[in-house]
Amino acid sequence: MRPADPPGEAGCDAFSAWMRRGLDAAMDATRPMEFHAAADFGKADGLPGFDAAGIDAGGTLVKIAYVKDGIRRLRKFRSDRLEEAAEWLRTELPDAPVCLTGGKGAKLAKLIGRGTEMMPEFEATCYGIRLLLPPAVGGRAFLLANVGTGTSVHIIDGERHLRVGGTGLGGGTIVGLSRLLAGIDEYEAIVAAAARGDRGAADLKVRHIYEGLEPPIDGELTASNFGRVPPGAAIGDGGARSVSREDALASVIGMVGEAVATLCVSAAAAHGVKAIVYIGSSFNGNAPLRKAIESYTRFRGGEPHFVGNGEFSGALGALLRIGQMAN
Ligand code: ADP
Ligand code: MG
Repeated sequence: MRPADPPGEAGCDAFSAWMRRGLDAAMDATRPMEFHAAADFGKADGLPGFDAAGIDAGGTLVKIAYVKDGIRRLRKFRSDRLEEAAEWLRTELPDAPVCLTGGKGAKLAKLIGRGTEMMPEFEATCYGIRLLLPPAVGGRAFLLANVGTGTSVHIIDGERHLRVGGTGLGGGTIVGLSRLLAGIDEYEAIVAAAARGDRGAADLKVRHIYEGLEPPIDGELTASNFGRVPPGAAIGDGGARSVSREDALASVIGMVGEAVATLCVSAAAAHGVKAIVYIGSSFNGNAPLRKAIESYTRFRGGEPHFVGNGEFSGALGALLRIGQMAN
């Protein structure tokens, strides 16, 4: 799938172009991801028993949950190449009913070129998540944080759902700042670089400010994201007055994670819920983001849950809608 030879000593541009070719190949390939069987996927009932597709076309990725020949599957495309998703659908499911959601849903519907249903995004996400909830969340009300290109936060209590907030900080922030700071374009390369980095280079902890005195709060907490960067510093080899690309990206992910978790624990407390369910493609292969969010959520007394395939909630909600309409 990947081009054979990585550029040797070539610079950033060549490296990202090489990564991009590899990733494009990976994203273009038809790699169906089948749902795992019942256990953590729970109630599959409500999904149509016939060929059908639910599609969530978001700011970065198109998520598709579909049934074909009795098998339930998941798949993704890039939102900057909607035509590829439309073409795949026309070939794979030429006659099946389709329900779309997400900001780019209407645009994709036009490209599909046949009658399709539409569903509001928040409704679809909050409806679809029920198929994926881990047993530990139980029947309790919970906060749902959808960390996509940006972040949207909802309280879900049984059938009811309410959007209680959001922030422009999300996966798109990680990608955008990584491009600017490190010249790395592609998601997988960004996350791999960040995983090698250390937040200690750029982030200022409370104990750094108190310098050995007893701080009023946990000294290990971040006092200021990027607050440790000295005057005149630039991205470099990590030596004096420089921060390495890896360390900068680790701090970018830490900053997004802490901001998202802060918003979530505050919103959860305001609504009297403890369980916080984190979803979104931003967690895909992104251990540093998950770690930052998990530890800060726990520190603040919240109960974090990371749901496998959670980014498909909107697509599943749309697929459920087709099942519902058939009954
Ligand atoms: P949206 O619904 O806004 O498209 P997603 O939940 O799909 O959002 O998450 C998008 C984010 O997921 C991106 O901003 C990026 O951080 C991350 N991501 C994960 N995998 C990829 C990928 N293959 N290409 C680009 N971004 C990816
Ligand atoms: Mg989305």
